[in-house]
Amino acid sequence: MSSNIKYIFVTGGVTSSLGKGIISASLAKLLQSRGYTVTIQKLDPYINVDPGTLNPYEHGECYVTNDGAETDLDLGHYERFLNVPTSQANNITTGRIYQTVITKEREGAYLGKTVQVIPHITDEIKRCVKLLGETGEFEIVITEIGGTVGDIESLPYIEAVRQMKWEMGHNCMVIHLTLIPYLTAAGELKTKPTQHSVKMLLEYGIQPDVLVCRTEHHLSKEIKRKIALFCNVQTNAVIESMDAASIYDVPLLMMQEQLDKVVLQKLKLPLKQDPDMEQWKEFLGKLKNPTTYITIGLIGKYIELKDAYKSIAEAIIHAGVANECKVNVKWIHSEKINDENVQELLGTLKGIIVAPGFGDRGIEGKITAIKFARENKIPFLGICLGMQCAVIEFARNVLGFKDAHSTEMNAATKHPVIDFMEEQKKITAKGGTMRLGLYPCKITKGSKAFSIYGKGNINERHRHRYEFNNKFLNDFEANGMLATGINTDTDLVEIVELKNHPWFVGVQYHPEYKSTVLKPHPLFVKFIKAAMDYSK
Ligand code: GLN
Repeated sequence: MSSNIKYIFVTGGVTSSLGKGIISASLAKLLQSRGYTVTIQKLDPYINVDPGTLNPYEHGECYVTNDGAETDLDLGHYERFLNVPTSQANNITTGRIYQTVITKEREGAYLGKTVQVIPHITDEIKRCVKLLGETGEFEIVITEIGGTVGDIESLPYIEAVRQMKWEMGHNCMVIHLTLIPYLTAAGELKTKPTQHSVKMLLEYGIQPDVLVCRTEHHLSKEIKRKIALFCNVQTNAVIESMDAASIYDVPLLMMQEQLDKVVLQKLKLPLKQDPDMEQWKEFLGKLKNPTTYITIGLIGKYIELKDAYKSIAEAIIHAGVANECKVNVKWIHSEKINDENVQELLGTLKGIIVAPGFGDRGIEGKITAIKFARENKIPFLGICLGMQCAVIEFARNVLGFKDAHSTEMNAATKHPVIDFMEEQKKITAKGGTMRLGLYPCKITKGSKAFSIYGKGNINERHRHRYEFNNKFLNDFEANGMLATGINTDTDLVEIVELKNHPWFVGVQYHPEYKSTVLKPHPLFVKFIKAAMDYSK
């Protein structure tokens, strides 16, 4: 069975940040829209077992899957484009590969043998790649290899690709993404870096089948022919990838370049139907032709690096499109907000989102912003730490518990309104030990949350250690902050909202992970709607 599964590898050359993730997701989208079942996997060359322990400044957002894997943010793109959930199997790191091999070695699985990069590490890499194919759910598996060809740390992956290509023949192919820089002084596009990058792949024994060339100017037929000649690929397999205004344009640009057709021909698969991209085009049409504009604020402490809030930023775009509204996001550093400047910084915003996060830095600015949103009746959405801050703010300023805090920030507070769960108290290891992945939540009928979701039972993804402290629940509810979403297995509070406020909702989970182009998340859609209403 697995012999029919097709494997496509996407490698990168010349420089990092060329957008392998978006190209992979765009190709997958086109193949999916021709009627194929496709998934995308990311192999990351670093030694961390997963990115869960990485600071967002290092690595951008940590994306969480339904099964609770802490993963690379590219998995977010895969889900947003394909509208199909990913899982732990979709993100593998060198740390995870070695961990498995070393654990097996200790168990005696290789008794008598020297354990080596080839074949033991490369075999484990191949096993992880084929795992997705073997589920029987997908006809095509696209595997994106992190880093740039030539990096020391990605060598075992490249070697595994060489072996799979050799073993699988036309069931396996390689797409290499490169850059064609434009030299202003010479007034020319330059192909040499691409030639060198392909040469390097050839040194490792891999002949790429398709070259996707990032460029700021159109590639002429001649340039394509030249690249094809020097790199041993067919001219129609040299694909131009122009810079685009939106990442959501890229599937259509790749369709124009017939990337999907070239790929299917190489894999000896039928073209089936033309890609059905009608809904996608409708989305793009609305994205580019908004009927209204609003500005909302996103308050966080990693805002120098917008990738730290990737899924939130994309969920806002999806929700804007659903409302035919262009949402301008003002990114505000939580460390900069105080009582003196809050009016000036937030006064003109039509909605305020307070972002997730860890640790003490910037916490008082978030609380100040929430007080401002609550008192001025500005639509407010608090996500994870943002929800916890809303609880702290209410405890301090409405309930009068002046020292109220989360025990994450102040372990000695007399009013620990956010506290560790009992099970979490015993845990000392930091990797993969949070409350992670999908949990059910029951929503109270008649609440704001119920009207947002239009139903009473939801499942959302989590990533946190601390929780609303139920000891204080009565105080909160008696004074107008209601717990309207509860995990009925554990009694944990998942949603809070204010009774006397047009739109003030805090959620302990991360709705942003589930928002896709075809299925914008109702919380974001209704939040943007509330912001539009407020602006009138
Ligand atoms: N730091 C908080 C916790 O661990 C919130 C985490 C988050 O915002 N993802 O509970």
